[in-house]
Amino acid sequence: MTTNISIIGLGLIGGSLALALKRNPAITITGFDRSYKSADEAYRRGIIDSIAPSVQSAAKNADFLIFAVPVAATAALLKEATGWQLKSSVIVTDTGSTKQPIMEAAKGLIDKGVTFIGGHPMAGSHKSGISASIEHLFENAYYILTPPSACREEDVDRLKSLLKVTRGKLAVLHAQEHDQMTAVVSHFPHIIASSLVNLLASQEQQQPFVRRLAAGGFRDLTRIASADPIMWRDITMQNNLELVNQLDGWLSEMHTVRDMLKDNDPGTIEAFFDVAKQFRDKLP
Ligand code: NAD
Repeated sequence: MTTNISIIGLGLIGGSLALALKRNPAITITGFDRSYKSADEAYRRGIIDSIAPSVQSAAKNADFLIFAVPVAATAALLKEATGWQLKSSVIVTDTGSTKQPIMEAAKGLIDKGVTFIGGHPMAGSHKSGISASIEHLFENAYYILTPPSACREEDVDRLKSLLKVTRGKLAVLHAQEHDQMTAVVSHFPHIIASSLVNLLASQEQQQPFVRRLAAGGFRDLTRIASADPIMWRDITMQNNLELVNQLDGWLSEMHTVRDMLKDNDPGTIEAFFDVAKQFRDKLP
């Protein structure tokens, strides 16, 4: 028996997920994207088996309904989906980088008895769109699931067994834990990267040559500032509280750094770099 997967949003993540899921020959993938060009490219490349004419028709026959659209659109569609015709056994999930607002938006569906399990494959790229999608994107990366408290274990297991072919490391977290942890390892670094680039842009006004020197470390540190601004606007707005907490921690850290610079003590400066190096060297 074939399993019907419907993917809403055929960009980097939706396309990559479809490619990985296609390793399982027993599934059929229907795709929908508000950009017909993206859906058409996905179909022509064999990433999906058919294009649905609307989001609702994509959802209707799905055994698994996956939202892979920007987080604000995911929240809006989850609310809309309370009025859609869905299979009673469907598992609805998403791929969004934030989880508390998504779980909140899914409440109406969950209250109607629909199984919703939040998802976040923690792999990606600063590139976006279907043309950037690759089958191997999720391999060895954490794929976080955030089931609501009343979710049945067997439903989490069903979703895990579907996603096994991605070769990601599946892990279950509470949505709040997820948002706190991704704030520090992902969302806040994006803000720092963009802010460093903005700083360079402003210095360039006085010293145009500086842009040519922005190689090596600066490039490594700011690569993620090239990511899609709309996607990062939505993530920043949705994980706002955790980001403000991170910023407070960062400001207090920067005050310590400022004192260190003013004191200019070699031992303190070396210890600052050494502590960071020891920790960084042990990261996976
Ligand atoms: P993307 O921009 O590459 O693709 C998003 C697709 O969704 C586009 O094709 C767009 O046309 C479509 N879309 C937007 N609104 C829609 C709507 N209302 N209905 C139908 N289609 C719509 O973005 P992406 O990188 O694939 O990100 C998708 C989701 O995955 C986001 O929620 C993001 O937070 C999450 N995510 C991204 C990354 C990453 O590194 N890019 C990593 C993990 C998770």
